[in-house]
Formats: sequence, structure tokens, C-alpha cells
Amino acid sequence: MLADKDRIFTNLYGFHDWGLEGARARGGWDGTKAILARGRDAIINEMKASGLRGRGGAGFPTGLKWSFMPKKADGRPHYLVVNADESEPGTCKDRDILRHDPHLLIEGCLIAGFAMGAETAYIYVRGEFIREREHLQAAVDQAYAAGLIGKNACGSGYDFDVYVHHGAGAYICGEETALLESLEGKKGQPRLKPPFPANMGLYGYPTTVNNVETIASAPDIMRRGAAWFSSIGRPNNTGTKVYCISGHVNKPCNVEDALGIPLRELIETYAGGVRGGWDNLLAVIPGGSSMPLVPAEQCNELKMDFDGLAAVKSALGTAAVIVMDKSTDIVRAMARISYFYKHESCGQCTPCREGMGWMWRVLTRMAEGRAHKREIDMLFDVTKQIEGHTICAFGDGAAWPVQGLLRHFRPEIERRIDEYARNPHPEPIREAAE
Ligand code: SF4
Repeated sequence: MLADKDRIFTNLYGFHDWGLEGARARGGWDGTKAILARGRDAIINEMKASGLRGRGGAGFPTGLKWSFMPKKADGRPHYLVVNADESEPGTCKDRDILRHDPHLLIEGCLIAGFAMGAETAYIYVRGEFIREREHLQAAVDQAYAAGLIGKNACGSGYDFDVYVHHGAGAYICGEETALLESLEGKKGQPRLKPPFPANMGLYGYPTTVNNVETIASAPDIMRRGAAWFSSIGRPNNTGTKVYCISGHVNKPCNVEDALGIPLRELIETYAGGVRGGWDNLLAVIPGGSSMPLVPAEQCNELKMDFDGLAAVKSALGTAAVIVMDKSTDIVRAMARISYFYKHESCGQCTPCREGMGWMWRVLTRMAEGRAHKREIDMLFDVTKQIEGHTICAFGDGAAWPVQGLLRHFRPEIERRIDEYARNPHPEPIREAAE
């Protein structure tokens, strides 16, 4: 269990003042000028040494990402864009940072922006986050008034602006290039890569897009040092992480702990355990709804980090743990997730646009047993034709949950098909949004 002194997000639950005074009392904006005085390369090297990997889902090393930005000023503007479009079902960690500790994010923007030569940061806030945006904007105003950002930010001689942009609430705008399109005022549809944003991002200029939690972790890493951060967790999986625990637990919650904490410890220490006890667990989705589920028998020793979850053919994603006990209709649950992705597909790629609806319809029939067993392999084949064949990772993220279901619960689907063959029943009338 993570010691309180090692926590970064000390106001995660909003018990204290989220404004500037409160942030300063918790150590925020402490020595920021001295951090900037260390210079761009020193900051990037410290971030690299910390081992911090992106907390938005992909887990790309943060320091390395920052180093991709052009080193020399060439007269073009450079941008930092913060992805606060947190829309992955089960995930609500950035939301708590935005509303309860917004100054951590703003200070992180200044440090990250300075390190990559960006004079401007845009924070793209999810459309549904009204109060969060209000807190964030108020915190930005406080930071300007106190001289922490703006001209000569923190007395460093560096000019740095922060703009809060409110999205309109589309899941796909959390994809970094769709976010940039949306920020430019266009329809939020992902771009083909390459070129990558570091070369051609917002308005065609060098841009780095980072997640809220990633950027908000930077000030503490710079203050306390890479050695402190990398001493938490294990190699390749270092530092702390905000986990979101929801579903069939006694006390759903967000909590910050070390990467690599065993899943069982995480659920039993913080979330009051699985409803009905650990033996009542059916499966978990460990990293937001786009990650493959992990069945109960693989959960006993499961470590909650990048490598631990890759070992069971899943992924950490956003570390949003959705717990499902044995009362769950697992096939129907996955069909419902497929409906979500069908609804949120931006429609540019044929495998995604057509495949999402196809998977949802087949899964819906399978949930009722109205399918043929040969369709199970066909469904898996379709997921493979979507995965890796689309413009953005949305296609993969929608195919993986279905693959996880077929990998671990094929006997359950076959049982339903056999049951229906013995006792056919009329097709139920479904609500449109089922
Ligand atoms: Fe749009 Fe889906 Fe293609 Fe991504 S994979 S660009 S969401 S159609």
C-alpha cells in the first residue's frame, strides 16, 4: 500500500481547497522557477529517468514523447495540448484532478510546455465536464493573476499561456488527432499518421498531446526527483497511478496507489471487496471498457501495471477497473459495450463503421442464444479484420473486449446456443439503446 507521503494527488477527494491557496499549502507551485531554471534538457532527462509512462491509455514514455518536439526554435509556434476529454467508460480520474487539484495540472503545463519549447497550452475538456471546466478556468485565472503563467511566468523570463477549451462530448475526440481537429473547429475525426503531431499537429505546427494525469504528475516528479518516482512500482512500470474502481464492489472509488499493486489488494483495501466476496468474482475489465476482460481465475495474482496485464493478454489502459460478479450476464455486458462503440465510431473507416454494428448485432443474438456456433469463430475473425486495419486505435479498442469475451467465455456462449436450440423463444422486443 502506498505511503501517504508518496501520494501526488493529495486532494483527490476534494476535502481541501482546490484554489491557489490550497494548492500552495499542499506544495503546489513550490520552486517552479528553479525547476525551469534547470533548462529544457535537464527537465526532459529527469522525466525520462523517472520512467513515467502516459496515463491516458497508451502508456508511451512521457520524457521520450517530449523529446520528439523540435529542439531549435524555427519561428513556428509549438503547442502543448492536454487531453482532458476523459470519456472511456469506467474512467473518472482526470475529472477529480480537474475539479479538486487543477493547479497541479496548470503547473505541469508550464513545466512541460517549457521543456518542449511550447509557448501555449490548450486544455481540451470533455463537454460533459461543466463544473470541472469552471474550476479549471478559475484556477487558470488565479495563476495568471499571481504571475505564475502569462508573461514572465513564475519570474522565469518565459512567456506561457494556457487556454481552456470545452469540447462537445464525443468519445472519439479523446483520440489525439481527432482532438486536434476538434480544437481547430472541425469535425472531430482522427487523422492518418504519419505525420505525427510532434511534426504537424495543431494548426500544422509541432504539438504534443498528453493526458491530464500525466501532466499533473510532472511537478512532483521534478520536485522530488526521478529516483523517488522510479523507486515506486517496478522497472518499466514506475510511479503512482490513480485507479478508478467501479461495478460490483462494496465501495466504488478512485484511489492513488503504486503501479503494480495486486488487483485483489486494490479491490479489498480500497473498494470494500467484491460484492458477495472474492469468490463471487466473475471477471474484471482492468483498464476501461476498451480493454479485454480478465476472468476471475487469472485475477488472484494479477499485478495492476503495464507488464502484469500484458501477461494476461489485457492492458492497463486508463486503469479503470470494472468489477463484474457472478450475477453479470457477461455476453450481454459485452454486447452493451459494443453498442457504445458502434455509437461512437466516427465512420471514416469501413471496418470500424460497419464492423461495430455487425459485432453488436451478433453479440446481441449470442446473448440470447439465437446464433450458430460457427458464428463464434466468424465473430473472432471479424474482430481481427477490424484490429489494426483502421485509421485510429478506436477499432482495436472496440475489437479487444469482444476478443476477451470469446477467449474466456466461449463455453458460456455455446451453452446459450444449445439452450436456445432446445427451447427456442420468440425474439424479444428490444429498446433502441440496448
Ligand atoms: Fe473513425 Fe473508427 Fe476509423 Fe477511428 S477507427 S477513424 S473512430 S472510423
